[in-house]
Amino acid sequence: MRFDVVTLFPDLFRVWAEQGVTGRALTRGQAMLGLWNPRDYAEDVHRTVDDRPYGGGPGMVMKVAPWRAAVQAARSGSGDHRVVYLTPQGRPLDQAAIGEIAKAPGWVLIAGRYEGADERLIESCVDEEWSIGDYVLSGGELAAMVVMDAVIRLLPGVLGHRDSAREDSYMDGLLDCPHYTRPEVVEGRSVPAVLVSGDHEAIRRWRLQQSLGRTWLRRPDLLERRGLSDAERALLEE
Ligand code: SAM
Repeated sequence: MRFDVVTLFPDLFRVWAEQGVTGRALTRGQAMLGLWNPRDYAEDVHRTVDDRPYGGGPGMVMKVAPWRAAVQAARSGSGDHRVVYLTPQGRPLDQAAIGEIAKAPGWVLIAGRYEGADERLIESCVDEEWSIGDYVLSGGELAAMVVMDAVIRLLPGVLGHRDSAREDSYMDGLLDCPHYTRPEVVEGRSVPAVLVSGDHEAIRRWRLQQSLGRTWLRRPDLLERRGLSDAERALLEE
C-alpha cells in the first residue's frame, strides 16, 4: 500500500510516520508514504499556493495550478493511483469503507487548507472525496493521518496476533468488549471472575455477550443494521 499526501505541512507527517504500529509498518516497508508540497510546484517568486475568493468573503482558496502540479507529480511518481480530496463535504468514512480502501494498491490524498479547493481543482484531478466526520478541521493533514492509520493497521502482517484488528469495534458490526489487565483488583474493583477462570469457551461467550450488550446500549443503530443470530439474541437476553 502506498500513500502519497499532497500537503503544505509535510513535517507534520514525519514524526507521525515514525511512531507506533503505523511507524513500524512504514519502516518495514509494509506501507509507503510520499509527501508532496504544492509550494514546490508554485511558479512565482513567492511560491503562492492560495488566493482571494472570487465574489469576496473571508479566507483564501487553494489555487489550481500549484496543487494540480503537485497531484500530477505524486500520481506519476506512484503508479497512477486514484486521487482523493479530504473534505468535510466528502463521503463519510466508516470501518467498512476503510476495509475497501485497504484493498487498493495506493492512494493520492490531498490535504486541503484555507476555505478549501478551487472547484476546478476538484473537477480536473480528483476521483473521490472523503470526510472523516461531520465537523470541520482547519486542515486535511489530520484527516489524512486518520485515514492512513485506520488503513495501515488492517494490512496483512501489520498487527501481530496480540493486537489483531479482528475483534476491534465495528469489525463484525459490534463494539468491542471491555478489557482488563493486572492487577486483579484495583481500588476494590475486581476483574470479572470468568476472565481468570481459564475456561476459554466461557470467556468467549462472556466477551460476545459484553459486545452485544454494549452495542445494544450505546449503538443500537449498529445492531439494527447487522441483525442478530438466534444464539446471539439468546445471549443478549440472558
Ligand atoms: N470551507 C470548507 C467547508 O466548509 O466545506 C472547509 C475547509 S477546512 C477549514 C480546510 C480543509 O480541512 C479542507 O479543505 C479539508 O481538506 C480539511 N478538512 C476539514 N474538515 C474535514 C473533514 N471532516 N474531513 C476531511 N477533511 C477535512
